[in-house]
Amino acid sequence: MIGDFEVKDEDLAGRIGYLTTAHGKLETPAFFPVINPLRNDLSINDILNTGIKNIITNAFILKKRDYIKDTIHKDLRLDNDIIVMMDSGGYQILQYGNVNITNSEIIKYQSKIKADIGVFLDVPTGDVENKHEALRTVEITMKRGEEAANLIRELDNKDTLWVHPIQGGKFLDLIEYSAKKANSLEEFSMLALGSPTVIMEKYNYDLLIDMIFAARANISRGKPLHLFGGGVPHIIPFAVAMGIDSFDSASYILYARDGRYLTRNRTYKIEDLEYFPCSCPVCTKYTPKELMEMDEDEQTRLLSLHNLYKILEEIKETKLAIKEGRLFEYLQEKAFSHPAVYSAFQNLLKYSLYLEKYDPRVKGEVKGIFLFDQYSMIRPEIVRYHQYMRKYKQSSDMAVIICGDFLEPPFISNEFIKDILVKYSNSADVFIAFPYYGLIPVTLSESFPLSQFEKPTNVPNYVYIETSNLINDIISKTKKYRKVILEMCENSKLHIMSISS
Ligand SMILES: [Zn+2]
Repeated sequence: MIGDFEVKDEDLAGRIGYLTTAHGKLETPAFFPVINPLRNDLSINDILNTGIKNIITNAFILKKRDYIKDTIHKDLRLDNDIIVMMDSGGYQILQYGNVNITNSEIIKYQSKIKADIGVFLDVPTGDVENKHEALRTVEITMKRGEEAANLIRELDNKDTLWVHPIQGGKFLDLIEYSAKKANSLEEFSMLALGSPTVIMEKYNYDLLIDMIFAARANISRGKPLHLFGGGVPHIIPFAVAMGIDSFDSASYILYARDGRYLTRNRTYKIEDLEYFPCSCPVCTKYTPKELMEMDEDEQTRLLSLHNLYKILEEIKETKLAIKEGRLFEYLQEKAFSHPAVYSAFQNLLKYSLYLEKYDPRVKGEVKGIFLFDQYSMIRPEIVRYHQYMRKYKQSSDMAVIICGDFLEPPFISNEFIKDILVKYSNSADVFIAFPYYGLIPVTLSESFPLSQFEKPTNVPNYVYIETSNLINDIISKTKKYRKVILEMCENSKLHIMSISS
């Protein structure tokens, strides 16, 4: 049924899913390039030649120019497997203050030209500082949402799937309020977080993480969440990890008009480039110098095309990371691309319990996890393990803790550990104290992820400190050991308290 969303793979709070539309299933995470048929920086064919199957265009502009006579697919000569999303004119409101069109007109128009995914006329909050003003945009959007829901029920065309935008700007409580209301209307099978563009232009990525959380945590998991205007490659995987399913943007063209060349982690001015660090069809064919010498239209066209390839590449890389269950490691890697991205990563870790909640327990075949610094202790597999250890049922009032700095898995086959197990047989709980994990019961040490990991030769000091704190906290607060004996801890970087009865 149109609007059905089926989740196939999950990692952190991100997922690969399939959204059913009248023109086939949209695989998410997806990027919708903004196209403007009235302005040919890059032709629709150029765009579709990248392999993309979904585009977004502005219903307000098309209607104003009366550009589409039949359906959007027929007029733009689109194949039957191309999914067309519409934007309503909300962005024009943000730019020009007002548009001369009603909510009902824009909904009927999108339905008439048979958009696959339609949006009613919301009022974007943007980055307004005044909370009353922000609330006003939220309330008008809500009111229009109700109006839209009534209209949608009456429409003959049931092939369009409708989106309810969530507003609130940087005011997280307003986003929550807006999200709950949007989620309650069953006419909308997709929701969208509005107006992050201005916030992203200011590199305020950590705020973006909070905004996504405020929206995502207040809507049902079964509904896809779109991010309006999220066309910067470096932030895409972070947004996906927080639960964003699709993006749209004109950034690839806007950057190109400004002579800006996107890579997956950086933005360059074309004149600063000696080489193209890319193998897309544009960069394979031309040198930066050749591109610079072209007339402006052709330069913009080719730069746009390259920029689009980069965004699509980032989407694919993110999907692959989800598929392989290594999205967290991918975020860690991306974090170092820019201090603002690093801030987004740090801020995302604040939501480790939320990420853990949605991160699947079983991720296909078991792969080892890569551990780096103290942030690795906040990845879902480790967070989940720490929670488990806090509840771990002790079977004795005595614990033996072997400092495991110098040990490698499989722990159970280590001769020293074997001897300790024999020595204490049933009279004590025997643990290995290990960086990142904390306490590992020897009897469980073979289970995932306790011996399936790779770590650096020199584990950073912070990890030892955090691990020691964790272990001491568990011993002193959660468990009731009368006696704690330490083994091999003299030269350990872990500082664990012993308890003698
Ligand atoms: Zn390229």
